Amino acid sequence: MELIFLGTGAAWGLPELNCTCAICNDMRSRGERRTRTALMLSGQSNLLIDCGPDITHQLEQHQIRHIDGLLITHEHGDHYLGLDELFVFKRIRPRGAFRPIPAYMTAHTWDVIKQRFGYLEEMGVIVVHTICPGRWFDHGPYHILPFKTEHGSFAKGSVGYLIQFRGNTGKQTRLLYTSDFMDILETYDDLLHPDYLVIQSFWLNEPVHNRPHHMSFQRAIHYIQQLDPIRETFLVHMGDADKVPGDPANTMLKKYDPKEPLRPPNSSEPYPIPLNHSQWQQTITKIMADRHLPHKVKVAFDGLRIPL
Ligand SMILES: [Zn+2]
Ligand SMILES: [Zn+2]
Repeated sequence: MELIFLGTGAAWGLPELNCTCAICNDMRSRGERRTRTALMLSGQSNLLIDCGPDITHQLEQHQIRHIDGLLITHEHGDHYLGLDELFVFKRIRPRGAFRPIPAYMTAHTWDVIKQRFGYLEEMGVIVVHTICPGRWFDHGPYHILPFKTEHGSFAKGSVGYLIQFRGNTGKQTRLLYTSDFMDILETYDDLLHPDYLVIQSFWLNEPVHNRPHHMSFQRAIHYIQQLDPIRETFLVHMGDADKVPGDPANTMLKKYDPKEPLRPPNSSEPYPIPLNHSQWQQTITKIMADRHLPHKVKVAFDGLRIPL
């Protein structure tokens, strides 16, 4: 079994098209790229989690030959606009040989998505199963608990997923994925102490106004402590909305002032805003060490593969 980070970027990917902010410029100069966030649990049964506009490139990159199930977290374009691309899995099979891909999501999320992609069910590309937060369901080797998250009024169907399966050592393994969120609305004991946590980290510092209802690393620290993953935490869905001191691009609409930026202990100087992958990792490792937090936190990147 393997967890593949197909994409780890925010809604428009990074670097963003035409964006000349310090973050996008730095990433561009290094050839770094984060496509829209999507995950794949790969093994005898391939479970895709979200299906954004970059999905063809992402599946091609990892030579994924079949998708056996699909979890959609919510009805935002960066998480479902690639659904039509799944048609190719049907097109390459002999007539009558293809079985529609089971797609799981809340009823509210499907209500929104079906306005655009309802034909995929009519044409037998996917078969939709609506799921309820708090209610376990099974898909192949996976035992799955959706849980309700708060992600703003344009994503009322938002859920995260706890996925339980037999890992490579034969041991039960639990992976918790929050997807985009600013709060977990119902917490169950089942969510505590997963083996692995994949959590959104859209900004480093919590902004004064969290209008898009996303999670900053600053606030994610509390969730990491509360959920208390046993083995490892991965950060995904990075954006470029932190203001980098002195950057003329700070006037852009997407840039946010921090409420009270993270600072090292006994220092008045905030942690520098990470511009690229290695700076993200250095900053996160330092923050965790400065706070004497025992959790291992890895900043995920596109193409990262973790054997589970
Ligand atoms: Zn998103
Ligand atoms: Zn979203």
